[in-house]
Parts: sequence; structure tokens; C-alpha cells
Amino acid sequence: MSNTRPAVIAHRGASGYLPEHTLEAKALAYAMGASYLEQDVVASRDDELIVLHDIHLDRVTDVAGRFPDRSRDDGRYYVRDFDLAELRTLNVHERRGSDGQTAVYPGRFPTDAGRFSIATLRDEIELLQGLNRSSGRQVGIYPEVKSPKWHRQEGVDLSKLLLGVLDEYGYRSSADNVFVQCFDATELRRIREELGCGLRLVQLIGENDWGESDTDYDVLKTASGLLEIAQVADGVGPWIYQLFTLADIDGQPISSGFVRAAHAAGLLVHPYTFRADDLPPGFENMSEMVDWFVGTLKIDGLFTDFTDVAVAALQNPET
Ligand code: CA
Repeated sequence: MSNTRPAVIAHRGASGYLPEHTLEAKALAYAMGASYLEQDVVASRDDELIVLHDIHLDRVTDVAGRFPDRSRDDGRYYVRDFDLAELRTLNVHERRGSDGQTAVYPGRFPTDAGRFSIATLRDEIELLQGLNRSSGRQVGIYPEVKSPKWHRQEGVDLSKLLLGVLDEYGYRSSADNVFVQCFDATELRRIREELGCGLRLVQLIGENDWGESDTDYDVLKTASGLLEIAQVADGVGPWIYQLFTLADIDGQPISSGFVRAAHAAGLLVHPYTFRADDLPPGFENMSEMVDWFVGTLKIDGLFTDFTDVAVAALQNPET
């Protein structure tokens, strides 16, 4: 849809190499040549914006050992139940599974090593803007409003807080180097219309059985659903599996038609997530996957845990 090189969005930073959403992972992704650094944004008890993927703390921090009596009835520890000063004392580790022990990605950074901290959105923007200044590059941010409906039930308007911080740091219009993303279509429309946001917006597209939001993704994925998204958003962030199927005859990937339909609606397409250690069927390695998605499907950007692999594949396409 454009002639510029597809955007490489560092998914939770260089999370293939370092614990996700740590400043170390963000600095590494920056150095590897990312176009955007991604921030998942949740709110603390004292309404600070925290960069973490989950509304829970227990999969990526030592909270259970440090604050054993602070879980809710479901046994989970919530970012919303802690002040920033408490969150700052936690150690962040590589993501573990629901048993609290097993690594989700066994080949990655050890789950029991290192000294890493939780970062606020402000911490991260200051790191990025500082690097932009010292390096002369212009890397953007790509914040996601996480579970806005849940946050509202908890008494906080996450979108409003986010837009306030972005404004403070100079992100105000569609010309600024930022995309704001959200799974909740009602919230994304609210961000544009009620909160008057002038930034570029991306509608994330999941599957209905994930329970991410009340949004009906089966409707959004249709041509008319995409046209409706285009009324408020500049792009879509679909799941990679929504973009292709495998041919019965030879098992080769073929287009699902999604990217074409999204482009016809005037939307950029930034699929998630390209992982060198978790490839979909039909691809031998991540470089081949990037080549095909860019060369055949014509995507406009991609979310990846492996910024370096994506950047190298875009610089040296095989096709
Ligand atoms: Ca995200």
C-alpha cells in the first residue's frame, strides 16, 4: 500500500532475547534497528501507567514471594493493586507458564536469572526519545490500551490517562511517530470520537474465543467490518493465522484475502507475531516467513520478538 519499507515493530521489545517489556529489551530492539517499540499499558493503584503485557504480575515478576498476601481470590496478583513504589521493588524475569515455573519459550533468556525492573510508560518514552536524540534516528512508540473495560470497572480511564501522557511527550497528531492500538473496537472508536485523539490508531483483531474484549472479530474481519474500522482507525493488527491458509495440494501458504480487503478499505496491515522460535506451519524459518508476508501479501509492517531477524530479512529479501 506504500512504497516505504515495512515497519518493524519490536513486540514487547527484543523479547526473543531479553525479558519482555524491560528497558534492556527495548534498548536492544532499538539497537537492532526497530522502527517502533511496543508498549502494553496497564494502570497501577496510584494511576501510573506501567508497561506490562498482563493486568497480572505473577507470570513475569517475583511478586508472589515479595507480597504473598496481596493476591486476589483467584490467586492472581494485579498491577492495579500495587502503587508504583511497590512495583519498582519487584524483579522482572522471563515469562513463565501458569505453573509459575516452566518457561513459555524454553530457548530464551533463563527465567531465574538477571536483575530487571518494571518500567513506566514515562521511563520508556524518555529512554526512546533520549536514544532518538543521541543517535539521530527517529524510532516511534506503539502503545496498546490493555483491557480498557476492566480498567474502567477498576475506576480508571486508561485511554484518557494514556493520551494525557502522550500529549506531555509531544505525541499529538497523525504526523507524530506513534500508533495507538487496542483490541476493543468500542474503545478505539471512543478514543477517536469522544476523546478526540488525532494520533494514528490501529484496531487489533483477535479471535472471539480468546475473550480479549466484547468485540466481535468475525464481523470485523469481513469487508464491511474493515470499512467500519477505517472510519476510526488507520490500520489493523491481525493475527498472522488470519492472513493465510495452507494449500491442500502442496501445503504451501496461500493468501486468505484479508490483506487485500484491508488495503481496499484503506487500512495499513501490521500482523502479529513473528517469532523465530515459534513458526507457523508452512514456513522453514522466520526470514522466509517475512519474505512471503511482505513479498506476496504486501503487509505494511509486522510485530516481532526478533527485531534483528526481521530487519535482516527486509534488507536482503530472498525473493
Ligand atoms: Ca500488545
